[in-house]
Amino acid sequence: MSRRDLGKAMYGAVLAGASTDAAAEATPKNAPAKGAPAKGAPGGNVTLIRGAYVMTMDATRGDLPEADILVRDGRIAALDRALPVPAGADIVDAAGAVVLPGFVDAHTHGSISQMRGLYGNTPETAFFPVTNRLSAHYTPEDTYLGMLLSAVENVASGITTTADFFDIVRDRDHAEAGLRALQDAPIRARLLYGMKSKTTADPIDLAHVEEWQRGWAQRSAGGRLSLGLAWRLPQDLDDAQAWTIKQREWEAARRLGLPMQVHVSGTVPGRAAAMFDALIGRRMLHPNLQVIHATDARDDQLAALEEAGSGLVVTPLTEHRVGYGLTRIDRFAGTRRLGFGIDGSALAGFTDMFALMRLVALTQAGATRDETAVSPRRLLELATVGGARALGLDAEIGALVPGRAADLQIVRLDAWHLAGFDGGDPSGLLVYSARPEDVAAVMVGGRFVKRDRRLLGFDAAALLGQARSSIRSIRRRALRADP
Ligand SMILES: [Zn+2]
Repeated sequence: MSRRDLGKAMYGAVLAGASTDAAAEATPKNAPAKGAPAKGAPGGNVTLIRGAYVMTMDATRGDLPEADILVRDGRIAALDRALPVPAGADIVDAAGAVVLPGFVDAHTHGSISQMRGLYGNTPETAFFPVTNRLSAHYTPEDTYLGMLLSAVENVASGITTTADFFDIVRDRDHAEAGLRALQDAPIRARLLYGMKSKTTADPIDLAHVEEWQRGWAQRSAGGRLSLGLAWRLPQDLDDAQAWTIKQREWEAARRLGLPMQVHVSGTVPGRAAAMFDALIGRRMLHPNLQVIHATDARDDQLAALEEAGSGLVVTPLTEHRVGYGLTRIDRFAGTRRLGFGIDGSALAGFTDMFALMRLVALTQAGATRDETAVSPRRLLELATVGGARALGLDAEIGALVPGRAADLQIVRLDAWHLAGFDGGDPSGLLVYSARPEDVAAVMVGGRFVKRDRRLLGFDAAALLGQARSSIRSIRRRALRADP
């Protein structure tokens, strides 16, 4: 047995046969294959990734052409040229490939991912009416499938961390199903616990959130998951009663030390600005809160955000799609904690951080009539370390630095649309030319969850089939209730 095969065999033992089709077929409905890589503690195996062009995305380390990365016990142990090969290491030849931190999707809506394709851009088939109508007919299994599908699609495309704004928590069974999905999914995730639906005024089930928080160590899948609040402002900003509820939720999150996210957005002129002003006026901005969208934020509002130390997440694919305005990145030049979010593959259409970066680059250059308006390097920073900083996770993830979690992706440059590249800084290639299918391998907490362009531990075909039958049943139930 060659050293490489030996490494694979050892790794296979850790995964307990997760990558074999037989194991996937034997899996019960709605569950990942036995031994799915991400459940439980990070891997204890040793992996050596050799000869890659390494983009650390760390300001002092920069890029390391032809470098090796040693991963041990789920963390980056060393990063240098020609590292010695430890006995029993799983060796990955990454010559000619680029290794960079996994992307950070700092805001998404996983539970509705099987609604993709149902939005038809008419008043009746727009995002909110369709989502609200169908989500009222979700079962816990639908929630589980949506969030699992979203997370699996994320890792397949190079995203290793996601913040899931879980805002369709119909009851505690749905909440538990959502949590189970993220426990089973091969991704690092923050579950942001929210309301029953996007529009009802029912308060968040804070008692359940507190119960989860008390026993979070048992729920966190070995520390891979964190908990937060998916918080919303009142529909009517003058509704004093609604504010009482919102204030109580905000205070609970502060007391429990939970991170929170809040949307500041709208298609009605002045709506987003009024939301931002309400947050500032009520002194509700703080370092453990991320504002989402704020596409047209004024300078004074962004200055208040900086002063409070809050994070900001923009989601250009969906902001453009629903008409929240053009996401111009120059507007946020002074925002220290800025990241990108997919905001749900159902609305974005595709979980594709490459496409997101490209959209930002093209929008910025077109709007300013300036090809040099934004560098590809800056966009890659926002997609990795920027998102980690926005979420307050930058001590753990976002850059390839010894001691941090080994969350990374290997991008192979061997496709037609990447032809012609012959070394040097690959930033432009990644932003303007690369696609999710070029992500050949993805590692979360030291374990490969994708390798040789194959997802490990998941039967993708079965998952897609389950998602299809889930949305079919949801639509049938919705039609029966409201023909
Ligand atoms: Zn959102």
